[in-house]
Amino acid sequence: PFDVLVVGGGPASASAAIYAARKGIRTGMVTERIGGQVNDTAGIENFISVKRTEGPIFAESLEEHVKDYNIDVMNLQRAQGLERKNNVIEMELENGAVLESKTVVLATGARWRQIGVPGEEEFRNKGVAYCPHCDGPLFEGKDVAVIGGGNSGVEAAIDLAGIVKHVTVLEFAPELKADSVLQERLNSLPNTTIKTNAKTTEITGEDNVNGITYIDRESETEQHIELEGVFVQIGLLPNTEWLGDNVERNKFGEIAVDRLGATNVPGVYAAGDCTDEPNKQIIISMGSGANAALNAFDYIIRN
Ligand code: FAD
Repeated sequence: PFDVLVVGGGPASASAAIYAARKGIRTGMVTERIGGQVNDTAGIENFISVKRTEGPIFAESLEEHVKDYNIDVMNLQRAQGLERKNNVIEMELENGAVLESKTVVLATGARWRQIGVPGEEEFRNKGVAYCPHCDGPLFEGKDVAVIGGGNSGVEAAIDLAGIVKHVTVLEFAPELKADSVLQERLNSLPNTTIKTNAKTTEITGEDNVNGITYIDRESETEQHIELEGVFVQIGLLPNTEWLGDNVERNKFGEIAVDRLGATNVPGVYAAGDCTDEPNKQIIISMGSGANAALNAFDYIIRN
């Protein structure tokens, strides 16, 4: 059996696998694709010590670093179930194989929920963005919209209002869903507008985004706003559905971890965007991957 089996191929997994392999223990990695969400990222400007890089380049260097170690990488493989039996964790893959390991680090990441209107795919990274921490500064001095009036949308709007010229929040429902303290903060800002009952129908543009079209559900009229950026903030979905009932999760489906990165199942750790860690960033997922692997190693030497 493996000592540490890492599930996922993003920054959290790469970090966990390298930290484990550096202990000289038997380390495996099962992943659908190496690089994770970073593959879909254009510019990365907040990975500290690297002023600017691009997603695919970053993903390639993750892979190179992993391959520099004695890590059994099972690429293009999906884990579909996990069970702890007699102090060993059995991991079932979609191809029918069953792997055994003393410990597991779950690092299957997350995906942004998409609004699914024309223009969203076309202008992805050309004005359509999902992460205000990552892409906010690209819109300095410009007009942007945030789709979604829940906590993440309103937090994004408050954050962006400090950088961009003007932020319009579009919410489908008749009122915002965010906590009232956040709504009050948003309302106190001079450069924000809230449109409720607004059903986004299209993100427009030529080479880059130039506007957003929505239906005002009250007056049943079509409206258009000229702007240069759209942040979609209607949810981040953790890739944890496959875990069944074995591993404890919160109401958002995020794996509950403690300070050690440990889950409720002995020997099973989790790291990165699939966990209840509140801030989802490359640098944070790598830190949590390293933490989980070191604590998995500690678990192995004590059991
Ligand atoms: P992920 O990167 O999501 O990787 C998870 C991996 O697990 C994937 O490869 C997935 O295919 C695989 N997987 C899922 N389920 C299974 C399964 N059942 N079996 C096997 N494998 C599985 N962060 C920054 O710090 N700076 C930025 O500039 C930045 N820009 C971003 C731009 C975009 C468009 C997006 C989408 C995200 C951006 N982020 C940025 C966020 C950053 O990419 C994530 O925080 C980070 O990738 C999380 O790493 P992770 O390893 O936890 O998960």
